[in-house]
Amino acid sequence: MIRHAKIEFNESGTPVAQDFDDVYFSNDNGLLESDYVFFQQNNIASRWQHHPRRPFVIAETGFGTGLNFLNTWQRFNQDSDKSVEQLHFISFEKFPLKQSALQQALAAWPELTSLSEQLVASYPTAIAGCHRLEFDQGRVILDLWFGDIQDTLPQLCYGENGIVDAWYLDGFAPSKNPDMWQQSLFDGMANLGRSDCTFATFTAAGFVRRGLADAGFSVKKVKGYGRKREMVVGTLEKANQSSTQPTYFERSTQSLEKVAIIGGGIATATLAYSFAKRGITCDIFCKDDALAKGASHNHQGAVYPNLQADFNAISEFFAHSFYYAKRVYQQIHDDGYHYPHDWCGVLLHGISDSKVEIQQRLIEKNAWPSSLIRGVSAQQANDIAGFEASFSGLFISEAGWVKPPALVNAIFAASNSNTSHNIVFNTEISDIVKTQNGYQLIDSNNQSVGEFSQVFITCGELTTRFSQTQVLPFSPVRGQVTRVKVNDLSQKLKTVLCHKGYFTPQLDNTHCMGATFEKRSMSREISSSDNLINLNQLRSFYPEQLGITEESILDAKAAIRCTTPDHQPIVGEVPDEGTLLNNFAPLRNGKHYDFATDANPNNGLFVFSGLGARGLCTAPLAAEMLVAALCDEPLPVPTHISEMLHPNRFIVRDLKRNKR
Ligand code: SAM
Repeated sequence: MIRHAKIEFNESGTPVAQDFDDVYFSNDNGLLESDYVFFQQNNIASRWQHHPRRPFVIAETGFGTGLNFLNTWQRFNQDSDKSVEQLHFISFEKFPLKQSALQQALAAWPELTSLSEQLVASYPTAIAGCHRLEFDQGRVILDLWFGDIQDTLPQLCYGENGIVDAWYLDGFAPSKNPDMWQQSLFDGMANLGRSDCTFATFTAAGFVRRGLADAGFSVKKVKGYGRKREMVVGTLEKANQSSTQPTYFERSTQSLEKVAIIGGGIATATLAYSFAKRGITCDIFCKDDALAKGASHNHQGAVYPNLQADFNAISEFFAHSFYYAKRVYQQIHDDGYHYPHDWCGVLLHGISDSKVEIQQRLIEKNAWPSSLIRGVSAQQANDIAGFEASFSGLFISEAGWVKPPALVNAIFAASNSNTSHNIVFNTEISDIVKTQNGYQLIDSNNQSVGEFSQVFITCGELTTRFSQTQVLPFSPVRGQVTRVKVNDLSQKLKTVLCHKGYFTPQLDNTHCMGATFEKRSMSREISSSDNLINLNQLRSFYPEQLGITEESILDAKAAIRCTTPDHQPIVGEVPDEGTLLNNFAPLRNGKHYDFATDANPNNGLFVFSGLGARGLCTAPLAAEMLVAALCDEPLPVPTHISEMLHPNRFIVRDLKRNKR
């Protein structure tokens, strides 16, 4: 669990960390000092003028009040000569300030108000891992990694080119915070550095200079800020050329020339949105006459994270996906692309002894802040829900529901305000044929609809219809959701209700009641017996309280969820089984070397599918990860989550267990 900073304000109004007995910034104009020490001494303004890549990536040790970030953001906005298009700021923080303390600390800088207000408004909940915040339509990205930098730095994904252009080596004075200023930090900085990476730090302590030199930086003393005699700057002499991921979990960088996406649901929309933020236009092929006619078609869908008692990789992915999805959906709404939704909370009722036990364990483990999920007594649950039941439960107060088809359309409309995607309806792609330059897409009339450098398959249960994707272990699970009429009792419901299935508060005088769960069925026919399954399930937990009867049933929708054996999406380049088995055969003998390096014949062909019933929560972050990797940008997830979603994971696991 992440602990907040304990801070006080000294007589000059400067925030002081009680744990470290040190100030967050100098009493003597911290803003000018930040600009001098970090921005100017890394020579950033002139580097922005002729930077070879789209984003300029700065990483910082110790986010604190965010002053360095805000100053750099302001500089970025004010600079009209720059060639760089995106500011990507990564910062690590072990003890995040509480939102109220952040606001109080930043009030000292009225010149930064318009930016600091945005930072305070989107400042994340204290959960370990990477929080990606986006400002100015994605032109400014802040990745806030909560946790001790000794733990989080090694979790960043990087390839052999590194990812960081400049380091702000901040942090309390080495004498007050010796745990941070270690050789492993300096080595980590070098590992992440690109070949021309620089650093600047306020301290000139001898062991810091020697440590940075040992890590591979040239180290030079320069004049310090104001009355301070000296500080230290330097450049990475030799980029490290290693990579965090084993080669079987690497994600390639590609030059995205002509991109096609096959699909029309939440995966397609969020992928198109992540491309659009980077100015990349896509051709989108949808087999239906409108978007969101597959599994994203329901009248209402709940958005909430699937949290377990422990902070493990799955829970971490869900928690961060949830917050990221909410930020993206909120931004789209704030930008004027509206869709019906309500962040009214999701109540998970403890409907059986085993459920209560699982929920109790989550409460006792205390791995999550109560602002995310909290235990509630039966009485509290009744107050939250607005009707009487006898179940205690868990409440996720920031969760809620959206209308998925309207959301998918809003995401597309928002994408098209940045760049103009070309959406082609009523076009079913039946074949993907490899060519010299990429892939030809063939429609169901056997006609080519174009040739593309990269193709993204985001078509749910139909993902495996192509010869290249048949190897992927997707399985269909049919789900039917029943719509029922509102009544005097049911209209009092104030929150999304999860029992074994779910029940939503009313929208347009109807509720959604779902969902059935039928493995291996591909039928989308509506079945009246499935409506009764949904009804009986609801009534088994709330016999009379919601007033829902057979007469309440209006209509239903059925769709096929696309699921995977480990319940996680599959996101990345489509593997070729033969090549993988051959390249990584040594894994059978426990060896992690002597791998062959044959190219993947499916190079440029990607899959983003297997979102199950959770796509509304997980799609935005997974899409952002996929696009960031392709664009050679820092990933918004740690290495272990990138690997958890990697398409190669099933074959690699089998090889390691000697099962293939
Ligand atoms: N850059 C900050 C700003 O602009 O306000 C000031 C940074 S403050 C001097 C140092 C920060 O480093 C504190 O917020 C502290 O909690 C954080 N910190 C200290 N040790 C750390 C560690 N091991 N890992 C991550 N953050 C750490």
